[in-house]
Amino acid sequence: MTPLASAIRQQVTVAPARYRFGASLAAAYFVVGLLSYAFSSASGALAESVFMHEGFGLAAALIWGTRRVWSGILLGQLALALYQGLPAWNGMLVALANVAVLLVTARLLKGCRFNHGVAAPRDYLLLALACTLVYQPLSRLFGLAVLSMLTGLRVTLAELPDVLSYLWLDQSVFQILVASTVLAAINGYQRRLPGRYWWLLGLSLALLATVLTTMLWCRFTNQLHPLHMLSIVYLLVMVVTAAFELLGAASANLIVLSVMQWASYRERGPLAGLLSEPGQLQNVNTFMAGIILSACLVGTLLRERSEKERALKRLANRDHLTGLYNRRYFFEAAERELSKIKREPAVVTLLWIDIDHFKSINDHHGHAAGDRVLAFFGRLVQSMFRRSDLIARIGGEEFAILTHGDTDTQAIAAKLRAQLQLSLADVNDVVPFTISVGVTALSPGDASIESTLARADAALYEAKANGRDQAVMR
Ligand code: GH3
Ligand code: MG
Ligand code: MG
Repeated sequence: MTPLASAIRQQVTVAPARYRFGASLAAAYFVVGLLSYAFSSASGALAESVFMHEGFGLAAALIWGTRRVWSGILLGQLALALYQGLPAWNGMLVALANVAVLLVTARLLKGCRFNHGVAAPRDYLLLALACTLVYQPLSRLFGLAVLSMLTGLRVTLAELPDVLSYLWLDQSVFQILVASTVLAAINGYQRRLPGRYWWLLGLSLALLATVLTTMLWCRFTNQLHPLHMLSIVYLLVMVVTAAFELLGAASANLIVLSVMQWASYRERGPLAGLLSEPGQLQNVNTFMAGIILSACLVGTLLRERSEKERALKRLANRDHLTGLYNRRYFFEAAERELSKIKREPAVVTLLWIDIDHFKSINDHHGHAAGDRVLAFFGRLVQSMFRRSDLIARIGGEEFAILTHGDTDTQAIAAKLRAQLQLSLADVNDVVPFTISVGVTALSPGDASIESTLARADAALYEAKANGRDQAVMR
């Protein structure tokens, strides 16, 4: 990697999540904006969306907060004007008109408790919706006023709804779709979803694409009424959303839009007739907007729910001070391990650890110092053992570790004690301490995990009685 590339990479890794998200969003909008310019067909206005400036505005809002929406818009609008070949002053005027409108939108948004960040997709969609419903129509009106001043163009009141709705819904809804896709992709990456999940998602999307193309290309299904076809599309998108949350909603909608765009370009399927009539095109766009909005909102709510479930599960199973598993979870999991061993023999070892003279640390240095010792020891064991090992704080200053594999357990205990002293030498806000360890192997002959624990406890008692700071195996 070149020094420049590695410097950029380093910057990206240390940047706060909201910067990364804002930047990805701006990049995504920019690419989609350029693509929609390059590929939009005369009839297929579905993708004919120019939303680079709003995209930049949203990205700026994510990075600096809603009050800075305008700076992103200004930048995007200028880029757009230059790209369209408008004279600079003309582009500047349009940009300023948009910024003025954005300030009104931001003012209105100020009342919403907007939480910028990847962790709050609902807030983000709210912002995108506000831009859609408030900013977009206002910006069209303002643009119209500027245009009529500049060119003498006159628009009657009766023509106004048409002017306002032209390209409004589909463009704005596209923004929400692009935003949801970026949001969902980043979240999927952060959660490190298992490979099975991606396979299933890919399979569902391939199925969706096949059903859609069949519906558009098969002579029999060509007899379908366009509304029926759209309803089937809606149901399918919702099924994928129910299964894969926001990521499902975003990717299913992208597939639907791409297939439909392609079909309208080739004039295939039940929608082709509709798409060539401007009035009907609005109806299709409105329907598509409904599909995209409802799927993205449902997907967002589902994702929020599963995130809350995970948080609740974590609260129920973890110890709040060290983040390790708690006593209840440990006993359930250890009991499961024991019954597994009874079915197929394996080596699983229990280390029962007690910090020596912990009470006197509390007494001499205060309860907070005692807490720091506990948290420090929690981090140490977590860094030393494998993810597959079960590490828990059983209560007070007692910890338990279940470790798998045919290894020299006496050596593990010795290494743990040695590593503890090494790590203590590296920190200065933790009072030095030692540990006593009782070690025993889970045996198929143990009636229950209580019998195993009794052995470990006896070993620990012996270690304490022998003068502490040692491990005893039984
Ligand atoms: P031994 O070497 O025999 O194990 O002696 P000890 O002092 O470590 O053991 P003892 O059981 O007498 O004391 C444990 C102390 O741990 C008593 C209790 O106040 C303290 N303790 C329990 N939970 C916490 C906690 O969450 N934070 C802090 N700071 N202290 C705790
Ligand atoms: Mg104790
Ligand atoms: Mg103790």
